[in-house]
Amino acid sequence: MLPPHQATSPDMLKSRLEARLAHQREQGQWRERLSMSPNPRAKLRDFASNDYLGLARDPRVAEALAAGARQEGAGAGASHLVNGHSPAHHALEERLADLTSRPRALLFSTGYMANLGVLQTLCDSETRVFQDRLNHASLLDGARLAQSPSRRFHHRDLADLDRLLTRTPQERDKLVVSDGVFSMDGDTADVEGLAATCQRQGAWLMIDDAHGIGVLGEQGAGLVGQRFSVSQVPVLVGTLGKAFGSFGAFVAGDEVLINALTQFARPYIYTTAQPPGVARATLRAMDISEQESERRKGLHAHIAGFRQAAKTLGLPLMDSTTPIQPILLGDNQRVMKWSLHLREAGFMVGAIRHPTVPRGTARLRIVLNALHEWHDIQALLDVLAELKDQEAKAS
Ligand SMILES: *Cc1c(COP(=O)(O)O)cnc(C)c1O
Repeated sequence: MLPPHQATSPDMLKSRLEARLAHQREQGQWRERLSMSPNPRAKLRDFASNDYLGLARDPRVAEALAAGARQEGAGAGASHLVNGHSPAHHALEERLADLTSRPRALLFSTGYMANLGVLQTLCDSETRVFQDRLNHASLLDGARLAQSPSRRFHHRDLADLDRLLTRTPQERDKLVVSDGVFSMDGDTADVEGLAATCQRQGAWLMIDDAHGIGVLGEQGAGLVGQRFSVSQVPVLVGTLGKAFGSFGAFVAGDEVLINALTQFARPYIYTTAQPPGVARATLRAMDISEQESERRKGLHAHIAGFRQAAKTLGLPLMDSTTPIQPILLGDNQRVMKWSLHLREAGFMVGAIRHPTVPRGTARLRIVLNALHEWHDIQALLDVLAELKDQEAKAS
């Protein structure tokens, strides 16, 4: 285990860091960065990124980014509240409010910061925050920043949430927070059930639809937009670095929420606005997402086909109807072995371990995207089948 806080060397901080790093390696939790080449051919073998619609390397989106930079500069130069708020940002906010059927939307530089900003604005130490056990790290960190410790309910368990809410004194402000699509499992929140529970219990509901925006719903409005009203889901967060292939995030809701965030959200106020060219790129990606809805349709056909084939092979799939299709392997070493083998065979797949997911649930996080051809998916399935056979023979 880790050494206690005591003088282990003249440089205590450094030796503690070294001990933690050694521990991380011993646990099989070492994280590696790969520097990926921007080869479009390599893209075909990408089963790891969240570029669901294949827009991150679309030349039209890249051109919008470049044109935006030429017209308005490479950077915003200041925060939104000083003079960094450009017409591109403004247009994007209106477009996002429109897409999600909300009165207003507010841009943030990243989804991580959007979640910190919302929680820090809505909560203080008196607020009770209830979070699904599998929520994204930024949601947990946001509650911590707000000094409002999270109570965590069992994954997708409305009865457990209801029980926790019932035990909470009536006079407390209550906020229920859930991922829309769970980023490491690919399953979705029961938004209807959550909204009904919140209404009955007098709680607000916040949904982080980072992986739903652009992917779910006929127009790509996500799990929540166009399906649930702002009174059912008062706080909606979406990110722009996933299906829309660019960068940034937004919060959508009513006038009071957006005004409060603009006035009080420290991760909004004290940071440079995203480059205006990035907003232009997102706008272009949204045009393409709207006009080329066959990207979404093709993706959902791939998802169904992949699940069918993987089931036939007896691979341990999880209960997901989204592009995130994890293969649950359980053990860290096993996941590392499979992912290494896949990489050698030319497939990039995420190896997800504790602490990102609970111990004993390490998995390959296979992500399908609209640029895949069926033969790419078939080739991946062939390698997975081979790995499974090898293990069966070895045991
Ligand atoms: C990716 C993600 C975020 C963070 O968004 P960034 O823009 O990458 O900072 C937040 N919430 C969820 C659920 C995510 O998957």
